[in-house]
Amino acid sequence: MQFQPQSGNESVKELKQELERLSLICEALWEIVKEKQGLEDIDLIEHMTRLDLMDGKYDGKKDTVQPPVPCRRCGRILAGHHMTCLYCGETRMHKPF
Ligand SMILES: [Zn+2]
Repeated sequence: MQFQPQSGNESVKELKQELERLSLICEALWEIVKEKQGLEDIDLIEHMTRLDLMDGKYDGKKDTVQPPVPCRRCGRILAGHHMTCLYCGETRMHKPF
């Protein structure tokens, strides 16, 4: 991908288009799951609320900072913002979301 300078408005427009596309994908996926599993919208709302509250705040978003975890190789604690272990270089295992 080649970097191309853009004005702020072009970037915002592209981000808005991408957000709309991702929202459409989410809605389509939810319809498939709902149909296949016999779920209702309230089931999705309950799960969204549970995830939202995991960081202690009901603010319509999920805390994206990873919690401190022990390194898989050396066992030392990795801070949430480190991608690799500072002591042994092991790559941090990330959750899918
Ligand atoms: Zn380590």
